[in-house]
Amino acid sequence: MRALSLQRLRAEGQAFMEAISREGYLALAGHKKAAEFQRVYKQYEGILGAEALELALEMFRSADEQSDDKRSARWLLEWEIESQASRPLAALDEREIAWENAAVVHSPDGRVIQYQAAPIEIANTRDRKLRLALDAARVELVEKEHAPIRRERLHREKEYIESLGVADDYNSSFEAVTGISLATLADSCERFLRDSQSMWDDTLPRVLKKSLGIKSSQAKRSDAMAIFRASQYDDAFPGNQMESVIRRHVSEMGIDPAAKGRIIFDVGDREGKRSRAFCSPVRVPEEVYLVLRPHGGQSDYTTFLHELGHALHFAYAEGDLPFEFRWLGDNSVTESYAMLFDHRMQDRGWLLRYAQLGTNRVAEFLRAAGFEELHFLRRYCAKFLYERALYSGEVPWEQLPDLYVSLLSNATGFEYDAADAFVDVDPRFYSARYLRAWQLQSVLNEQLTARFDIDWFRNPGTGPWLVSELFSHGQRDTAEEISARVGGGSLSFKPLVRKIEALLEA
Ligand SMILES: [Zn+2]
Repeated sequence: MRALSLQRLRAEGQAFMEAISREGYLALAGHKKAAEFQRVYKQYEGILGAEALELALEMFRSADEQSDDKRSARWLLEWEIESQASRPLAALDEREIAWENAAVVHSPDGRVIQYQAAPIEIANTRDRKLRLALDAARVELVEKEHAPIRRERLHREKEYIESLGVADDYNSSFEAVTGISLATLADSCERFLRDSQSMWDDTLPRVLKKSLGIKSSQAKRSDAMAIFRASQYDDAFPGNQMESVIRRHVSEMGIDPAAKGRIIFDVGDREGKRSRAFCSPVRVPEEVYLVLRPHGGQSDYTTFLHELGHALHFAYAEGDLPFEFRWLGDNSVTESYAMLFDHRMQDRGWLLRYAQLGTNRVAEFLRAAGFEELHFLRRYCAKFLYERALYSGEVPWEQLPDLYVSLLSNATGFEYDAADAFVDVDPRFYSARYLRAWQLQSVLNEQLTARFDIDWFRNPGTGPWLVSELFSHGQRDTAEEISARVGGGSLSFKPLVRKIEALLEA
């Protein structure tokens, strides 16, 4: 066998990513009964073993700090660590998936509910007594069966990463490889929670009283799920017009929504197709699938806009960038482009032009959106602070459930349950990617407004700018670098606080 070189790592890495993404696309879109991931892993084991990890580590250690080689090595190393960590965990993951598919919750009213469907069922249960009882039944099952599996997985993942010896512990090795400072982000989350506290204290009691008729002291997490399930605006977002309306929006901003055929809209109805929209980049930038089943409604539009943002980013990446800048990198970047599009659902001008809310309902819709955004952000800040403590090893794991409850309950005003402490965790700090994406998205929105006016979403100058300044670079740069490059300075939650204040006063 040939010795592994950077050239081979790139070529086979790309072939591997294409093969694995194609499997995922075919299975999730219902073209194929099941994905055959094991076969693909087997075929490419040469670039997924100890030798490849060693090569990436060596490149990472020897490259000059500010060089492009360092940038390449960073993304390749992170990718190798990610793919390799998932192998020793594969058996546990399979066990977890099998458990999740089989588990059922016994509702106090006699119904038997699939565990996977329990959150939706809880959110849809209007009778509060029954909703709380149903959640209690879910919690009991999580505590007994799901939490132990997740706890073991987190523990093993932490051990595996630390065994690689990149840095002293899990958190410092994450920081070393990704270049993301967890401490800086944690400071900024704590500041956001403080800065938005009074806004939240003003808003939450009113919403609780109006929507559920309860006091703040009674509010539980399952109540939050019920509030955000609200669907009284769904008629303003008809399913049969979703694709054409959103294509029109993208065309009006000067972008070809299909990227000259590189984005393939898979809209057909077929058995086995996931009901939520998703984006599968199979070859970047040449072959990107945008899969949807247009049901309509507020959340369907949000998901479609989000996935479209990903699709445009991949399909407009420069084809001659090296593999790692097209496929790998800081996922906060692609998430921020996706959020830039899904946040049009909080944009008065966009809603008036493309949705059917009408001027009389748009203000109340925006206030509800502001409430949801603030809740979601406060939850994510607390979640990230908790995950940082979890992975730090500084808090004994027996004390983590109490910490989880206090952080999440204080931030959101809804009482959380200790049983979810190991289940409600994004592995490998994906929460940090989302939070930075949120920040970058709000920076981009302000910059686009300054350059192309508040209706930038329909300005034919916007699209070409997005393509040449952002999308064409793939994921070569970090979220911080992009913010600085477009004139937004360093990432922070400040523009988000401004935006949420405006929404709540709509
Ligand atoms: Zn996304």
